[in-house]
Amino acid sequence: MRKLELHWQILIAIVLAGIAGSIIFEYRAANGADPTVFGIAWTSIFDYVGTIFLNALKMIIVPLIMSSIIVGVAGIGSGGNLGALGGKTLLFYATTTLAAIVVGLVLINAVGPGYVDGEPAKDLLALDAPVEEVAAKVEGRGISDVAQVFLRMVPPNVVKAAVEGQMLGIIFFAILFGYFMTQLDNQYAEPMYRFWDSVFHIMMRMTEWIMKFAPIGVFGLVAAVIAETGYKAAGPLATFAVVVMAALVVHALVTLPLLLRFVGGVRPYKAMKACAQPMLTAFSTASSSATLPVTIEAVEENVGVSNKVSSFVLPLGATVNMNGTALYECAAAMFIAQAYGLELTFGVQFSIVVIALLTSIGVAGVPSASLVAIAIILAAIGLPIEAIGVLLVFDRILDMARTSINVWGDCSCATIVARLSGEKTNLAVAAENPD
Ligand code: ASP
Repeated sequence: MRKLELHWQILIAIVLAGIAGSIIFEYRAANGADPTVFGIAWTSIFDYVGTIFLNALKMIIVPLIMSSIIVGVAGIGSGGNLGALGGKTLLFYATTTLAAIVVGLVLINAVGPGYVDGEPAKDLLALDAPVEEVAAKVEGRGISDVAQVFLRMVPPNVVKAAVEGQMLGIIFFAILFGYFMTQLDNQYAEPMYRFWDSVFHIMMRMTEWIMKFAPIGVFGLVAAVIAETGYKAAGPLATFAVVVMAALVVHALVTLPLLLRFVGGVRPYKAMKACAQPMLTAFSTASSSATLPVTIEAVEENVGVSNKVSSFVLPLGATVNMNGTALYECAAAMFIAQAYGLELTFGVQFSIVVIALLTSIGVAGVPSASLVAIAIILAAIGLPIEAIGVLLVFDRILDMARTSINVWGDCSCATIVARLSGEKTNLAVAAENPD
């Protein structure tokens, strides 16, 4: 019998985990306690297995980002090439993120989930805001405004940045490192290049090995989440969640495919199939950074983008390019503003769009990272940040969805930038020669 492709295995694991998680959720609701095996709760077993898998992926992030950006930048060489590739990449990142935000903005304005029968839903929602939980999540991340986010780009101590997982700082350091390698004599540059290139290849091999365990790890992660949150919906919040999902779907199935077809010259559904594995991994882990190794592998192997482009564009994208996150930030801030009955003038909406765009760049690719950014937006438009408490109900599920779109955005941009840099990817060749 032919072995099922890994992305199918992961998809099946997600579905089974959804079933197992909801059985546990219902059991707990009926019996007031978790089902156990040998006295150990099933949820903690799922959580344990999922966490081992997630940790294994996270374990390689720092060396992977360092090595791939250094090799990527050094490989592009000095001259104007780096500027050209960087320019195209950032342009596409900004354009797609803005497009995503606009879709979210339009849908939230059209549906108005923050109003119930034309009245702001404040009282209805504020009732169950778990304030302490929000404060605990936001606290300790230490970001109070947009400028602070960018201050982290130049870390005073790069080792500390690595320890704390501050990717923007590592990326900036790695770009400089790679660039100045090209300024050295070959005698010094060559061994460095070989060293970092080897580190990169070792990380990719490790990824392949870790991904063999993906179906089990993904099952654990998703089952634990569903067992915890269930599928229970609650009034305006459920409408909000549906609107966000719909906007994410429009971005994933309309905006990005149009760009892929007309600017990237590939068939969008083929690209989506090629990137199914990273998208599903992103969905299960809710972390673009943890998914990065899987993303690089799929974009190089399945789409056929060169290592030169992917090793620069993708690690940058995992932190900087977050289409789904930006869309969510904007939608969430608008929803809360609606619920508070804030007058949504053009000025207010414009500020929300701009801050969502900027903060999505600085948001780390880890679960729930956008909550901090939403707090920044709320503070900027004069709403109490405690209001994000209401978002926690659906945060994990929506986080899984938006992270998947973040990664799909990275894959699409890499495919398009490869074409604009004169590369012929496998998918582009296939699109030119329909069978
Ligand atoms: N979890 C998201 C990511 O890793 C970030 C967020 O929106 O919270 O891409």
